[in-house]
Amino acid sequence: MTECIFCKIVEGTVPSKKVYENDTVLAFHDIQPAAPVHVLIIPKKHIPTMNEVGESDAALIAELFAAARHIARELGIAEAGYRLVNNVNKDGGQVVYHLHVHLIGGRKLGTLVSGDVS
Ligand code: AMP
Ligand code: ZN
Repeated sequence: MTECIFCKIVEGTVPSKKVYENDTVLAFHDIQPAAPVHVLIIPKKHIPTMNEVGESDAALIAELFAAARHIARELGIAEAGYRLVNNVNKDGGQVVYHLHVHLIGGRKLGTLVSGDVS
């Protein structure tokens, strides 16, 4: 049995507030939102970090970004703007080791140079 919290969300053994799903990708609201819109977009397949993404995952990565575009439109923030974030390993601030893209928006976000990416 998997110990990965996001795999459990994919399996349905841990609940989530889903916003989008297809065969390969799932998106759900973050439990600790950093902004009015904070959605996590994950591949259903377990990949620990961006470092483990391989050549054969190209289509899957494209799916994550396609889902982000779709969700941003659906939630009405596409035109105002939003941020996509992928934290990698310790220094990147990664806490959950199942690849995910944060879709953050619904307010004016800080600049990256100030160190505020939330
Ligand atoms: P990261 O630091 O990039 O690994 O981000 C992990 C994110 O997952 C954090 O923003 C958490 O709030 C979020 N998170 C952790 N557990 C859950 C959960 N069960 N459902 C929804 N979001 C979660
Ligand atoms: Zn996983």
